[in-house]
Amino acid sequence: MSATTADARSQSATRGGWTPNPRVATFLAEPHGLWIDDEERQASRGTIPPRVLDVVNPATGEPLATVAAASGSDVDDAVAAARGAVAAGTWARMAPEGREEVLRRLAQLVDDHTEELAQLDCLDNGMPLASAREEVAGAAAHLRYFAGWCGKLHGETITPYRTQNHFVYTEREPLGVVAAITAWNFPLDNAVWKLGAPLACGNSVVLKPAEETPLSALYLARLSADAGLPKGVFSVVTGTGEEAGAALSGHVDVDKVAFTGSTQTGREVVRASAVNLKRVTLELGGKSPSIVLADADLDRHLEQIVRAVMHNSGQVCSAGSRVFVQRPIAGDVAAGAKEAAARLRVGPGWLPTTDLGPLVSAPQLDRVLGFISAGSADGAELVAGGQRLGAELAGGYFVEPTVFAAVRDDMPIARDEIFGPVLSILPFDDLDEVVARANASVYGLAAGVWTRDIGAAHDLARRLAAGTVWVNCYNRFDPAIPFGGYRQSGYGRELGEAALDEYTQRKSVWIGLP
Ligand code: NDP
Repeated sequence: MSATTADARSQSATRGGWTPNPRVATFLAEPHGLWIDDEERQASRGTIPPRVLDVVNPATGEPLATVAAASGSDVDDAVAAARGAVAAGTWARMAPEGREEVLRRLAQLVDDHTEELAQLDCLDNGMPLASAREEVAGAAAHLRYFAGWCGKLHGETITPYRTQNHFVYTEREPLGVVAAITAWNFPLDNAVWKLGAPLACGNSVVLKPAEETPLSALYLARLSADAGLPKGVFSVVTGTGEEAGAALSGHVDVDKVAFTGSTQTGREVVRASAVNLKRVTLELGGKSPSIVLADADLDRHLEQIVRAVMHNSGQVCSAGSRVFVQRPIAGDVAAGAKEAAARLRVGPGWLPTTDLGPLVSAPQLDRVLGFISAGSADGAELVAGGQRLGAELAGGYFVEPTVFAAVRDDMPIARDEIFGPVLSILPFDDLDEVVARANASVYGLAAGVWTRDIGAAHDLARRLAAGTVWVNCYNRFDPAIPFGGYRQSGYGRELGEAALDEYTQRKSVWIGLP
C-alpha cells in the first residue's frame, strides 16, 4: 500500500470536522494481517500481490482500512493453531482460577480501550459513538460474567436407576475448536458473545468477523494477547464468507460453529457442518412483532416503540419491526411515530447529535430502499421518511427513518427481515387475532408487548412464539439472560448459564463397586 493511500485512509474519518483518537488513526493506517498464533500474518503466506479486502467507512463511502482476505489454507493454519492449543491443554487444563484471571484481565483491557474500540465500530459499522461506547461496556460486562463461570462448571454424581453396584459421576468437558462466524451489525458484541462462554469452558476459538466490519475484532485479538490468553486459543481470520466462512463451517477439525447472520447463510452453515457432524448454534434473523394494546402508556412508551425498530438504523436481529396496534389507537400511534421518527437525527456516528448512523454498506442501502419502494407500491401508507439522504450525507448510506401505516400481513415489508429503519403499523382488534397474526411468521426471535394490563402481558408472553418477550421495554440484553430464537430464527442459546451447554459436552464415568 502506498503512503498516499495510507494517509487517505487514516484521514478519511476526519471529514466532518472529527479526528479519531491517535491510536485509532494509526491502527486504520496499518494494513492488517490475519491474527494466528499471537501474531499478524499476511494471507496465503505472503502471496504477491497480497490478498486483501478494503474496508469502507459507510458514513462517507470512502476507504477506511485494509485487511487480509483469508484463503482456505489460512483457515487450515488458524484451525491447526487452535487444535494445537487444545492438544497442549494450555487453556483447557489451566486451573479455572487462571482462566478466570485472564478473562477478567481481558474485560479490563476492553474497558481501558473503550474509546479505541468504540471509535473503530463507529467508523466501520456507522453506529453512533454513544451506542458504540455502550457496546464496549456490554462486551466487558459479558467477559466478566463468563469469567465468573470458569470455577463453577461442574458435573454431578448420579444414582443409577437399575443398579446399586456402581458409582457414577459426570464431567463437563470443552468441545475443542469453536469457529465463530459473525455479522456486521454489532461487530464487537457479536464477537464477544461468541468468546466469553466458549473460553470460560476451555475451548479455543477461531473468529471470522463480517468482511464489512473486521476492525474491532482485530483490535480485540491484540488485547487478548496482552491479557495473557495462550497462543492459538483465539485467532481472527478476516475474509469473505464464501471463502473463509465456508472453509470454517466445512472444516473437519472444527468441533462447533457458532453463527450469527442471515437465515439463508445459516442454512448453508448447517449443510456444511454435516461433513463431520460438528455442532452448530445459529442466531439468525427475525421479524419481531411489537404489540401495542389499547391501554398502553403511549406517553411513556411511544418513543421506545419507535426506537425498538430504529435503533442501530434498524440493523438489529430483534428489531420490533411489525408494530401491531389495537385499532382504537392505531391513528394515535401512527401520528406519534411520525413525530418520533422526525425527531431522530440522522448523520455520521461521530457527531454527538447523531441518533441514527448510516446503513452498513451500499448493498444494504439498495436492499432497504427496495423494500421501501415495494411498501409504497403495495399500497401501504407512507407516514414518514422513505428517502435516501443527500446533500452533505450523499456519499454515505443514509436512509430517513421510515414509517408505514395500514400495512397488510402479506406485504414483503411486513413479512421479510428488512434490517433497516422501517417501521410497519398493522392494526388489530382482539388478542386471539393478534397472537395468530404475530405468530404467522417463519421467524421467532423476539416480541414486544406494551400494556398496563399485567394479565394480558403474561398471557401474551406465554402465547407468543419467540425466544424473548419484552413487556413495556425492548431490546434489553444482559449477559445473565439467555437469548436465542424459535423456528427459523435459529437454535441454541447465547448468554446466561444456558450458553455453557452449547460449549461443553458431558462425560459419564462409571465406577464398578466391589
Ligand atoms: P450473512 O448471513 O451473509 O453474513 C453473516 C456472516 O456469515 C458473515 O461473516 C459472512 O461473511 C458469513 N458468511 C457468508 N456466507 C457464508 C458461507 N457460505 N459460509 C459461512 N459463512 C458465511 O449476512 P449479510 O451480511 O449478507 O446480510 C444479509 C441479511 O442478513 C441482512 O440484510 C439481514 O436481513 C440479515 N442479517 C441478520 C443478522 C442477525 O443478527 N440475525 C445479522 C446480519 C445480517 P461475509 O460478511 O464476508 O460475507
